[in-house]
Amino acid sequence: MHVVNVKTPSGEYPIHIASGRLDQIARSVPADASAIVLVTNPSIDALYGERVRTALSHLSCTVQTVLLPDGEGHKDFSSLNQVFDAMLQARYDRRAIIVALGGGVIGDMAGFAAAIYMRGIRFVQVPTTLLAQVDSSVGGKTAVNHPLGKNMIGAFHQPVAVEIDTDVLDTLPQREISAGLAEVIKYGLIMDAGFFAWCESNVAGLVGRDPSILSEAIRRSCEFKAEVVGEDERESGRRAILNLGHTFGHAIEAGLGYGQWLHGEAVGCGLIMAAELSNRVCGLPESDVRRVRDLVGAIGCPVVAPGLDGQEHWISLMKGDKKAESGQIKFVLMPRIGRAVVQPVDPGALREVLATCCE
Ligand code: NAD
Ligand code: ZN
Repeated sequence: MHVVNVKTPSGEYPIHIASGRLDQIARSVPADASAIVLVTNPSIDALYGERVRTALSHLSCTVQTVLLPDGEGHKDFSSLNQVFDAMLQARYDRRAIIVALGGGVIGDMAGFAAAIYMRGIRFVQVPTTLLAQVDSSVGGKTAVNHPLGKNMIGAFHQPVAVEIDTDVLDTLPQREISAGLAEVIKYGLIMDAGFFAWCESNVAGLVGRDPSILSEAIRRSCEFKAEVVGEDERESGRRAILNLGHTFGHAIEAGLGYGQWLHGEAVGCGLIMAAELSNRVCGLPESDVRRVRDLVGAIGCPVVAPGLDGQEHWISLMKGDKKAESGQIKFVLMPRIGRAVVQPVDPGALREVLATCCE
C-alpha cells in the first residue's frame, strides 16, 4: 500500500492507495463516529455499495445510505438537500461521518454537505473515478453548481482520510480513464519534467490500465497535489498552477454545453492550447508543444478544439471563467516542461492560438 500524507493549516490526513482498499475503509472512520452516512449514486451503489456497507458493518454505529442522482446536471442544492433531509430526520449529531463513494460529483457534493451540516462534520473520500483519485478527492475543495456558474457555491473542507481502491477503475468507461489521465500529465507539465517523460514512456500501460503503472501514476499525482495544497490550501497563490489548461478547458465545456466533452477531455485539449500559448509568450520550444500534443492524443483525449462560433465567443467564455479577475484573463503558462507561471497575456498571442488550435 502507498500512503501519501496531506498537511494543510486546517488539518493533516492520509491518502491510502491500494488494491482492495474498499474492504478496509472502516479503519479510516474515526472511532467516536455516532453514525455513518454513505453518500453515493445508484450506478456506483450497484457496483460497490454492498461491499462498502459490509466493510463498515464492523463498526458499532448505524450505516445509512443516501443515493443521489447520477451526473453533473444533478450537482445542485436539491441533491444536497436530500443528504440533509436524511440526516436531520435521523437526528444525526455532529459526530456523524459522511463517506463519499463516487467520482468528483459525489465527492464535491458530499464534501460540501459535510462542510455545512451543523456547521461542519468530518468526512472520508472514497474516490471511484481516475479523475477523483488523482485530483478532486484531495485538497478540500467542495461545491455544488448554480444555474449561473459551475462550482460557484462551495467551501474548503478537508476530509479526514482519502481511501483509493485501484481495483474500482476496472469498471470505469475508457473515456473516463482518458479524462483522468489528462489531469495526471498536467502534474508533469507544471511540476516535474521527469514525470512527464515517465508518462510518455508508459502511455500504453496507462491507457491499457496496467495495475502497477496506474497505481504509480495515482501515487505520484496525489504527492504532487498534496505538495501544492499543503503550500496554498485556499488558492491565494501557488495552487493556481493546478489550473493549467483549465481556462481553455472551461470555455470548451461551457461553449459546447456541459457533458458534451468530459472535464478531463476539455482539459487535455486545453493543455495543448496552453502549450501553444506558452510557445508564443514565454519560449516553450516548438518540440515540447509537439510532445504535449502527442501525449494528449495518445491518452485518448481530443487534440483539436471546437470553434465555438468564433474567437469573440471563445474569449468571452474564457472571461466568464471565475479565475478571470476584473475581466483580465490570467493564464497558467509553461516556460518549459515541468515549470509553471501565472500571468496575463497579450490578446494577439491568444488569437493566434485560437486560430491554430480550433477547427
Ligand atoms: P463523475 O463523478 O460524474 O463520474 C463519472 C461517471 O462515472 C458517473 O456517471 C459515475 O456514476 C461513474 N462512475 C464513477 N465511478 C465508477 C466506477 N468505478 N465504475 C463505473 N462507473 C463509475 O465525474 P468525475 O470526472 O469523477 O468528476 C467530475 C467532477 O469533479 C466535476 O463536477 C468537477 O467540478 C469536479 N472536480 C472537483 C475538483 C476538486 O478539487 N474538488 C477537481 C476536479 C474536478
Ligand atoms: Zn480539472
